[in-house]
Amino acid sequence: PLVLGIETSCDETGVGIVRGTQLLANTVSSSMEEHVRFGGVIPEIAARAHLEAFVPTLRRALETAGVELEDVDAIAVTAGPGLAGALMVGLSSAKGLALASGKPLYGVNHLVAHVGVGLLDDQDGAVQELPPNTGALLVSGGHTEILRVGSLTHDVELLGSTIDDAAGEAYDKTARLLGLGYPGGPAIDRAAAEGDPSAFTFPRGLTMPKFVGTAENPGKHRHNWSFSGLKTAVARAIEQFEEAGLPVPTADIAASFQEAVVDVLTAKGLRAAQEHGITTLLLGGGVAANRRLRELLAERCAAAGIELRVPPIPLCTDNGAMVAALGAQLVAAGVGPSALDIPADPGQPVQRISV
Ligand code: ATP
Ligand code: MG
Ligand code: FE
Repeated sequence: PLVLGIETSCDETGVGIVRGTQLLANTVSSSMEEHVRFGGVIPEIAARAHLEAFVPTLRRALETAGVELEDVDAIAVTAGPGLAGALMVGLSSAKGLALASGKPLYGVNHLVAHVGVGLLDDQDGAVQELPPNTGALLVSGGHTEILRVGSLTHDVELLGSTIDDAAGEAYDKTARLLGLGYPGGPAIDRAAAEGDPSAFTFPRGLTMPKFVGTAENPGKHRHNWSFSGLKTAVARAIEQFEEAGLPVPTADIAASFQEAVVDVLTAKGLRAAQEHGITTLLLGGGVAANRRLRELLAERCAAAGIELRVPPIPLCTDNGAMVAALGAQLVAAGVGPSALDIPADPGQPVQRISV
């Protein structure tokens, strides 16, 4: 099916067009720059930006794909999770398009769409499914999750997630402490390249035996992460240098912070994957752009006999093509369409693949 996908859950306005698993267009406009002076995404600003960017982004996507709205078989849109006001802009726009064109509407889950994007290719007509026993590690500014995906349209399970900050959020907050600006991920990634990752030993959250337990008797947070303690540890390290009147070793702190994040992300993610029989692991979310994460994950996946798939970075960050990709799978599986009065669901759980 030819499917149009709309994504507005955070700061990216994305419109993508796919035919089955073939990617035809992926147009993204981001309001990231408008959030720079606040050091994080401001929901109200993001929502207003979506309102302005939606129609131009839609037009460009249709133009790139060389299709008209009348040609599409379905309109897919992110219903949640995400920022309520931001979600509502995409959802309202999608409903308007569906109503005006008579095309069916598919409200989909943003996190599952991050997994669905792994099916896209540039080949014509190649219909494929996710391999059996697929898992997904999603790491972004708003999410840190490990999923088991039995079927994209029928069976998605949350194995673990962060109990406080998301990994990308930890990067953003730590970069702020180090005076490296926003977004923090790329800034820390760059600074870390000049530093020593073993200069400081920062905490790996929820790795103590009482949280982890054993495979037979798992602890409450066996597969969960926590990044707030790490941020505090970095703040304390900076303070110690400042109080002593010494220059803050920014590069060493950045490298050591990054090593702690990447180490605990991959270690706990892979343990969850292995204990759930996962043999193919898909990486998604903006933090997938991190070189050290991809390097260490590749190393540890190889050691565990798990096949790692990393989509091209523009498909890892928020975009409309991933929404279209999941929409196409739902159409093909005969799941949906959605009613035209579906609400935005800011806290939509992964098990709710579509609404
Ligand atoms: P959502 O959480 O809804 O997917 P988001 O806008 O928060 O949306 P993305 O746009 O996917 O997430 O990713 C942005 C995040 O990725 C930011 O927190 C940013 O700091 C982080 N990031 C980007 N590049 C890198 C990098 N090279 N290393 C580490 N983190 C990075
Ligand atoms: Mg974003
Ligand atoms: Fe996302």
